[in-house]
Amino acid sequence: MERILTRNVDKENSTTLAVYEASGGYQALRKVTSSMTPDQVTDEVKKSGLRGRGGAGFGCGLKWSFMPKEVAAGRPHYFLINADESEPGTFKDRLLMEKDPHLVIEGSLLGAYAIRASKVYIYIRGEFVHAANVLDRAIEEAYAKRYAGANILGTAWSCDVIVHRGAGAYICGEETALMSSLVGDRGYPRLKPPFPAASGVWGCPTTINNVETVANVPFIIERGADWFLSVGKAPKNTGPKLYCLSGHVKRPGVYEAPLGLPLRELIYDLGGGMLHDDRPLKAVIPGGSSVPVLRADECDVDLDFDALAAKGTMLGSAGLMVMDSSTCMVGAMARIAHFYRHESCGQCTPCREGCGWLERILQRIESGRGLQQDLDLLLSISNNIIGNTICALGDAAAMPAISFVTKFRDEFQHHIDHKACLASTRALQGVG
Ligand code: SF4
Repeated sequence: MERILTRNVDKENSTTLAVYEASGGYQALRKVTSSMTPDQVTDEVKKSGLRGRGGAGFGCGLKWSFMPKEVAAGRPHYFLINADESEPGTFKDRLLMEKDPHLVIEGSLLGAYAIRASKVYIYIRGEFVHAANVLDRAIEEAYAKRYAGANILGTAWSCDVIVHRGAGAYICGEETALMSSLVGDRGYPRLKPPFPAASGVWGCPTTINNVETVANVPFIIERGADWFLSVGKAPKNTGPKLYCLSGHVKRPGVYEAPLGLPLRELIYDLGGGMLHDDRPLKAVIPGGSSVPVLRADECDVDLDFDALAAKGTMLGSAGLMVMDSSTCMVGAMARIAHFYRHESCGQCTPCREGCGWLERILQRIESGRGLQQDLDLLLSISNNIIGNTICALGDAAAMPAISFVTKFRDEFQHHIDHKACLASTRALQGVG
C-alpha cells in the first residue's frame, strides 16, 4: 500500500520545510486559501468520512460543522490539537510530530481555516520534549514563509500556531480537562453540555482534534474526498490509519495501513509474528489499555471502528498490545488498574474510590491473598463505575477489568485457589 501519513518519516531531514514542500507540502493550504470557503473545506472533510483518530471516532467534518458560521465580536474561534498522547500502548502522534511536523501544522491550519479560527494551540504532553522542540522549529519556518501568522499566503486570514506543553497528566487528554489546563486551571474534566463549540477555552467557540486526525486533512483537500473514500472500508471506516503495535511481537512499531486492516495481518505479517515461536498468541488489547481485551480466538477481526465494536471492544487509539501464552492476565490487569487509579483526577466518587478498590483487589489476588468473593466484587465495582462518572476515565478502568475477569476467569480463580499463577505453571509445564 502507498504510505500516505508516513510518506516522509524515513526521509533525511524530514522535519524541514524544504523536504515537506518537496513532497507537495502546503499545496492544500494554498488551495483552500485561494479557492475554497471554510464551509467548502468542512463539507469536503465531511464527505470523506474522516473519523477522529484519538479514540472516539466521531466524524471530523461533522464536528467542525457545529462551530458558529460567523465570528462574533470578542469571541474568537480556537482550534486545539490534542497532542497529549498518553494512552498506554499508543505512540503514533509522537511519530508524526517528531518526524513530519509540517504535516501536523498544515493539517491544523486547514482545520483552523474551516472553523474560522485565528489561533491554533497544539497541547502536547510534557514528556514529549523532543516533539515539542521539533514542532517549535517547524512553526518558525512556517511563519517565515507566511504559512502561519499574519495574512497567511497574502490573504486576509491570520492564524497563530502555538505549542502548549502540558505537565504529563493522562487526564489532560480528555478534551474538557485539556481546555481547563490550557487556560491555566486545574486539569479537571467537566460535564457536557456546554460543548466546546458553544463554550470552549475562555468561553469561546472551540474545536479539538487529535494529531493524526488533522494529519489526514491535507490529503483530503489535495486528492479529494472520493479518493479518501477509496482507502479503507467505505462508507464508515475510510482513509489510512496508524496502528501502534507493541508487546510480544518480533517487530513492534507504528504501521500504516488502510482502516480495516485484519488484526492477524498486523501481528503476523507486518509485525513479523509472535516474539517467541513456542509461545502462541493469548490475547490482544486492540485500542489502548482502556478497551476490552480480545482472546486469541476472537482475533479474526478487522481493525476498524465497527468491526471491533461488533466484537465488544473498540479501536480506541489503535494501540495494540499483544500478549503471548506466558502473560499472567491477573498481573496485566493489576498494572492497568494501577495506572487508572494513579491518573484519576478524584472528582467522582465511583472513579476515585472504585479505581483504588480495583487496584487493591487485583494486587491481593496477584500476590496470592485473594478471597473467593473477589471476582464477583471486581465485576460489581466495575459495573458501578461505568456510566456514573463525569468523564470516560472511570469506564476506561472498568471495561478492561470486566473483560479480563470474564474472559480469563480460570486464571483469576487459579490465583485465588492455589496462590500461584496459572500462566507460569503452564509455561513451566510446556503447555501453551
Ligand atoms: S471519571 Fe475519574 S478522571 Fe474523570 S472526572 Fe471523574 S474522577 Fe476525574
